[in-house]
Parts: sequence; structure tokens; C-alpha cells
Amino acid sequence: MVLKKDFSSVCTDFINDAKLTDIVANTKEDIKHVRDVIAKSMEKQPLSVEETAVLLAADDPDVVEEIFNAARDLKKSVYGNRIVIFAPLYIGNHCINDCAYCAFRKTLRSTVRKTLTDTEIKAEISALEDVGHKRLILVFGEHPKYNAEFIAKTVRDVYSVKKGHGEIRRVNINAAPMSRDDFKIVKESGIGTYQIFQETYHHGAYRKMHPENTCKGDYLYRLDGLSRAFEAGCDDVGIGTLFGLHDWKFEVLAMIKHSLFLQDRFGVGPHTISFPRLQPAHGVEIDDKYLVNDFDFKRLVAILRLSVPYTGMILTARESPEIRKEIMSFGVSQIDAGTRIELGGYSNSDEKQKMKEQFCLGDTRSMDEIVLELLQDEYIPSFCTSCYRVGRTGERFMEFAIPGFIEKFCTPNALVTLEEYLVDYASKQTKEAGNKLIESELAKISDTKMKKEIINRLNRITKKDERDLYF
Ligand code: SAM
Ligand code: SF4
Repeated sequence: MVLKKDFSSVCTDFINDAKLTDIVANTKEDIKHVRDVIAKSMEKQPLSVEETAVLLAADDPDVVEEIFNAARDLKKSVYGNRIVIFAPLYIGNHCINDCAYCAFRKTLRSTVRKTLTDTEIKAEISALEDVGHKRLILVFGEHPKYNAEFIAKTVRDVYSVKKGHGEIRRVNINAAPMSRDDFKIVKESGIGTYQIFQETYHHGAYRKMHPENTCKGDYLYRLDGLSRAFEAGCDDVGIGTLFGLHDWKFEVLAMIKHSLFLQDRFGVGPHTISFPRLQPAHGVEIDDKYLVNDFDFKRLVAILRLSVPYTGMILTARESPEIRKEIMSFGVSQIDAGTRIELGGYSNSDEKQKMKEQFCLGDTRSMDEIVLELLQDEYIPSFCTSCYRVGRTGERFMEFAIPGFIEKFCTPNALVTLEEYLVDYASKQTKEAGNKLIESELAKISDTKMKKEIINRLNRITKKDERDLYF
């Protein structure tokens, strides 16, 4: 029997390869036009595909520098200096798909397959809590055993592990797309964001990477995945492209298209955009034709920042510390820290770990090292998980769209959760740097009532040993 697949009521293939390719090829460099488009983004207006193409067409180094500066200014003036910290947790690497770029693909026999047991999950969560994590993204291969019930149970198990002051307060998911009924089951377990990367939006490249006879081989089913998630009640979704599989300019335009599509159909765009770059992995040999160099990577992040307002941008530890430091200023809002991607890697690491890894990491620094560097660069590392816990999600609550939202909720929550981190987990040096930063951030707050309340909560953390005092 062939099972009928579930598609959303708005399902349509909104990616036209020929049209997007044509826009990339035929949009000519035009400095005046670039400046007009930048001015529009500075007003926090979403850019169209054609306007984004104007930014992509800018090749002159001086004009590209203007784009970089604009992204930096926008980040500073609109999005502020908070960086939210999370960690990925790989739950299982069994997979029925055969994605050419991934070390978990089914035909790669040398990969050591594993699904964490309940006890191992608890050990991983304890280890993550021990270094101060509050927010995780659970990552799964695609396999019948990782069905909606399994994912939901895993989420509940993760929330149940408490160690000292440690607890996980927000669990996001990166897993295969599912039916609306299954999304509902996962949603009910209390997830934050459901993330699905299209990998490449180009139909031809997609077919090359994902054999037709596999689940993931169905381009439209995947493209429609987040629309089904919306219809199942998940109003917090993340899109992404694996850069390196097709022309990066095409992929940027396609992501803009996806974002505008969701905004149009559901009244709210994606909560986050991810832009992983293809990394070397054992058993993976991919043509290097479309690999994105560091300069173009910076361009694409800056252009995404200018094109999609109100959307969080995630930069992962696939990238080196140096690249992360530089790209951060272009509008990144979330990074992972202390990351391990081998199965069971947070609580122990064994010599076979490389065979359980999906790809090679660029940034293997500890949480404390990363938090310290953020503080030294005058970012506020934030462990805030408040919004989705109090129901501030979806179109009614877009932190960047609502005047005063950041001052009222985000900065105060960043400061109190940073204080928790400093008291419970930080090294001496990080504690000193953190306290200094909190002082200087408090000095910037002009609303005296709010400032008093933040100081009150900081004192309740340090003097009364209270926790989780969110706004
Ligand atoms: N299996 C699910 C799927 O494919 O959607 C979810 C988890 S998959 C483990 C998470 C993401 O890792 C993929 O969406 C892909 O973008 C990324 N990935 C796979 N191989 C990679 C590689 N060699 N370098 C960088 N990222 C990679
Ligand atoms: Fe499986 Fe996801 Fe890797 Fe593809 S990317 S082989 S679906 S784990």
C-alpha cells in the first residue's frame, strides 16, 4: 500500500529555477540602486527578491563595503548587542536517506550508528546543564524510529532533567518534515522552533544530492514542510540553506522567496534563518564548484540581514572562531557554544567519535571561552528563553517589530540570565568581565523604573539564590 502524503492547504512550488537564475544573471551592478535598497532596509522593510538581487549584484569592493557597513549599522541600531546561546544535541544518526553531503547517509557503511538511550540522554543533559546551557536544539536523522511520538518523548525527557540550578528551558528541533498530525504531537511536547533546511532550493541540484527513491528525494514535500508545521500550530519555524550545493546568489534569493511566502500565507515569516556552509565529513566527496569562500559568505550574511527584517540569524560552530567573530557584527542573533556533534559527546568522548560525527566542526571552544570572548567584544550573551514560555510567539510578538519590545523584555532578560550564568557556571575571569558588562548596560537604561526592577532581580539571584526571574 502506498501511503498518501500530507500536504498543506497552501502547498505550491513557489521556487522557479529559471526565473531566479535569470534574475541573478541579469541584475546589473548599479550603485544608486544599491543605496536606495539599503535605505529601504534601514527602515526595517522586507526586501523583494528583485531588490535583494540588486545587493547581490554589487561586486565593486567599495560598494560591498557599504553593504557590510549598512548590515553592521542595522544590527547595532535595531537588533542590539544580545547574542543568544544554544547547543545542538544529536539524538540519533540512523537515517533512511542518502544525502550526498552527509556522513549519516544510509549507504555510508563505515558510520557507527547510534541512538542515545534514556540514560545517555540524561547524562548529556546533565553535562550541558553543568556548563550553563538553557536552550538546546535536538537533531535527528530521518528514520521510522524517530517518529513524532519518539521526538515528543525525548523533548519531555530533556525538560525533566534538573541538576542544581541547571535546567533546559527551551528545546528546538531539527528533524525531517512530517505530517500535520505529527507536527501537532511534537508541538504538544513544548517545543520552541521547528527547523527544516531545504539544503538547496535549486531543483536540479536537489535531485543530484537527494536520490529520488528516498524520503528526502521529494523536493515539494520538504518545501511544504514548514507550511504544514504552521497549520499544525507551530508558529515558530526556522528555514535554512546548506551553502555549497548550488550558486549562493540563487540560494539567497530562494530563501527570501520562502520567507516572503510564509509571511504572505501565515502573517509571520520564519523566526530564524540558518546559513550553514558545507563542511568536510568522513566519506563525503562533493564537487567544490559551489563552495562559498569567506568573502562571499560575509556578503551573503550581510545581504540576508538587510533583506529579512524581524528574523533571527543563526551562525553555528561549523565556522571557525575567527569567521564567527567577524560575521557576528553583521546581524547574527544566535550562536552555539561548547558544541559537540558526536553522539554522546557532551558526557564522554571516545576514539570512534569521528565515525559518529555528521561533519567536522570549526569552533570547538568551551562555553566559558566563547562567553568570555562575547563579553570582551561587548556583546551580552543571553540565555533568555522567556518569549515562548509566556506565549509571546507568532505574528503578535515579533521582538524587533514592536517598539520598545527589546528594552522591555529582551535586554532585561539577557541581563538576568547572564547573571545566573555568572553566578552558577562562569570562571573567575568571565565573571569579572560579565559583571563589568552588566554595570555598563545598566548605565545605558534610561527608564528608571525598569532599571530598578532589573537591579532588584539581579540581587534576588545573587543574594537570595533565586532563579528564572524572567520578564
Ligand atoms: N535529518 C534531518 C534533515 O536532514 O533535515 C535533520 C538533521 S540533519 C542531521 C541537520 C542538517 O545538517 C542538515 O539539514 C544539513 O543542512 C546539515 N549537514 C549535513 N551534512 C553537512 C555537512 N557535510 N556540512 C555541513 N552541514 C551539513
Ligand atoms: Fe539523513 Fe539528514 Fe544526513 Fe540527509 S542530512 S543523510 S536526512 S541525517
